[in-house]
Amino acid sequence: MATGVGSAIAQPSLTDSLLRRSVQAISTYCHVQCVLWAGLEGAPGEVRVYSTPAAIAQRADLELSLIEADDLATAIPTGETLAASPPPEAEEWAAIACFVPHHLPEWLVTQQQLPRLTQLDTGELLIPILAQEFGTMDADAALSGSPGTPLQLLLQVGRSPQSGEPFEADDGEDSAPSPPQAFSPLPNSRSTFSGWSPQTVTSLKRLGDQLGLAYNSLLWREKFERSQRQIALMGRIVHLLNSRLETDDILQQIAAELGQGLTCDRCLLMRLQAAGVGPVAHWARTQADLAALPSIESVEVWQPVIDTFLDNGASYLTVRADTAPTALQNWLRHLGAVSALLVPIFIQADFFGVVCLLDHSKIRYYAVDEVQTVGQVGDHAAIALVSAQHHHDSHRQTTLRLQVMTPQINLRDAHTQLLNREAFEQELRQLSRPALWTAQPPFSLIVCDIDYFKLINDAYGFSVGDQILSQLAQRLRRRLRQGTLAYRYGGEEFALILPRTPLGPALDVADRLLNAIHGHPFETAAGPVAVTVSFGVAQQDPRGDRDAWSVLQRADQALQNAKRQGRDCAKALEFGLGA
Ligand code: GH3
Ligand code: MG
Ligand code: MG
Repeated sequence: MATGVGSAIAQPSLTDSLLRRSVQAISTYCHVQCVLWAGLEGAPGEVRVYSTPAAIAQRADLELSLIEADDLATAIPTGETLAASPPPEAEEWAAIACFVPHHLPEWLVTQQQLPRLTQLDTGELLIPILAQEFGTMDADAALSGSPGTPLQLLLQVGRSPQSGEPFEADDGEDSAPSPPQAFSPLPNSRSTFSGWSPQTVTSLKRLGDQLGLAYNSLLWREKFERSQRQIALMGRIVHLLNSRLETDDILQQIAAELGQGLTCDRCLLMRLQAAGVGPVAHWARTQADLAALPSIESVEVWQPVIDTFLDNGASYLTVRADTAPTALQNWLRHLGAVSALLVPIFIQADFFGVVCLLDHSKIRYYAVDEVQTVGQVGDHAAIALVSAQHHHDSHRQTTLRLQVMTPQINLRDAHTQLLNREAFEQELRQLSRPALWTAQPPFSLIVCDIDYFKLINDAYGFSVGDQILSQLAQRLRRRLRQGTLAYRYGGEEFALILPRTPLGPALDVADRLLNAIHGHPFETAAGPVAVTVSFGVAQQDPRGDRDAWSVLQRADQALQNAKRQGRDCAKALEFGLGA
């Protein structure tokens, strides 16, 4: 799988504009051919080259892809603008193109390891510019960088064939800048270079330092503005957690806030567990994308991702769709995505899944602070999931009970005093909530139906039938453990929901109930009447069943089997064994 784990750098418009202007200005006013390398402190895939097309054309050894200026635009959520951004003066620097190098020249890798002012065999000067630390206001310290400071930008400057000495004005009026007073050369740098006067070298170095300062101040400004937006985003998410919304709605809104806040095209909160794989929340920029979400049901496809987080301890992972195809990359392509950022979600110490940000039109590089924000949002999603799990049981035992006891909410069947069909549907909806579907221990459903009840009505009359129904309901209720709720699901059909109960024990419950009815006639106005009941049992399969109604369908099928096999019996149906 072609993935990247490391720091990411955003290529925003302000810095992009500065770099283009600088290359243009250095080329024009210094009479040199200038190539500027940027993003050198990041991963190899994040390096950019700025140059005039003429200067780059001479470097036949470099393989490059052009990137459009739009692709370097700062990611700002809709409706926001950068305060006091400099007006774009496109014509000034339109001639400067930005490229992605397919590989880095060897000398550049050497510069990354040991940046120093040096000269190539071609005669070009290499002027390294180090990342600067703004904790100190000491300009000299900022200019020279501290030991171990990474290389950030590099100017590759060649003599322009048609001009004389660089910095010499064509008309003799535009004098060269005066030599700097406090020039501190990089360690181990030579001070003389063939074909370049010491004054020119010093001036170019000084220009590089100034460019570094300007570049970093813009980077910090962008970082500040981004962090303001991220703080606001986290505030909104904390507010959501503290709201009265249902967990599923909270997760949906978290996905939407994150997707819009970080201006990606889709945001998914994915469960990646042996018990189940799938999105618990999904936001997409367009309605069409929201509808089309091809599923990856198999956890194997995600195994390399899970291993990266669990075994390698990575805090995030980037995946590109344009590299060697794996099942995951195929899935990305299927979604129309070109790159993805994956950040793990842990619930307490257990791996739950990932926050997945997808970009459709261009490969997106996320800045380190953006990745951290995604991680924090993942932690908040985990809080929502934990509270959903904790509340689930108490919901069953308290919320529903309260509803049942409240007369104005009509969830009881008047005749049998069991919960009615409406209450049953409500509970099925609760059980089907995506946030809980695979997190809860599997439940089972039992459905039962009185055998030949029509004949009993015919033989003894409808009111005797009614007496049998209410006594049978009472018998069911008495024999059920606390926490198992019984519902009148149809005329003479009943349903039971058994939380935390696998198929075997659920079938035992059905057998127990069967034996409580078989051979124990009901006392009616017409005397004792013996009836029998058939039972169908099914257990939730979190990966195979779509929702609780799928389980109900299987329990119904099991009941039909029991009827076909002579009635007065309990049958179970395992997932995948249905008709
Ligand atoms: P089996 O289920 O074994 O196939 O036979 P059945 O005779 O029970 O078949 P069916 O489910 O078709 O019939 C259900 C009967 O239950 C028909 C209906 O009159 C009766 N019934 C439904 N609701 C009530 C009720 O509230 N009171 C009474 N007394 N009878 C009811
Ligand atoms: Mg029936
Ligand atoms: Mg019946």
